[in-house]
Amino acid sequence: MILVSACLLGQNVKYNGGNNSCELLQVYEGQGHFVPICPEGFAALPIPRPPMEIQQGTGEDLLAGRVRALDRTGRDMTESLRLGAQKALALAQKYHAKTAILKESSPSCGVHRIYDGNFAGRKIPGSGAAAALLREHGLMLYSEKELTPALLAKLMAEDKDSMKNE
Ligand code: SF4
Repeated sequence: MILVSACLLGQNVKYNGGNNSCELLQVYEGQGHFVPICPEGFAALPIPRPPMEIQQGTGEDLLAGRVRALDRTGRDMTESLRLGAQKALALAQKYHAKTAILKESSPSCGVHRIYDGNFAGRKIPGSGAAAALLREHGLMLYSEKELTPALLAKLMAEDKDSMKNE
């Protein structure tokens, strides 16, 4: 199975109550390959909620205890990001997922870039906390920004093969 950020599938789970609907993913949603995940929802965060950013570091840094995450009101969200990441990993293991397609730039799901912690719209290289934990456990990660019809077809074919072999 392929883990997919729930907001990319049109679920209204993002901090502002909206979604990041990805048309390509939605075309194939009914074919049984996708497991929607929302690490921030897994951590029981409300919708809507203030935006949060990892403070001058990455998801890897947060998991290692080197940096924390704050929301825009100054509330410490470090443990929520950690909990959401752990629950996302548990679901990946339950479904034997080897791949995840995640929302770029999120402090949980960001694959290649995240916001820098200043709430000023600036990004730095690095992953969100859930993405970092999934990668650490061997999943291949892709963001919606690098997804093409050919790449998605390849990932779904690989998923079909791996299901046959289980
Ligand atoms: Fe989307 Fe991930 Fe944020 Fe949930 S935690 S709203 S799935 S980007």
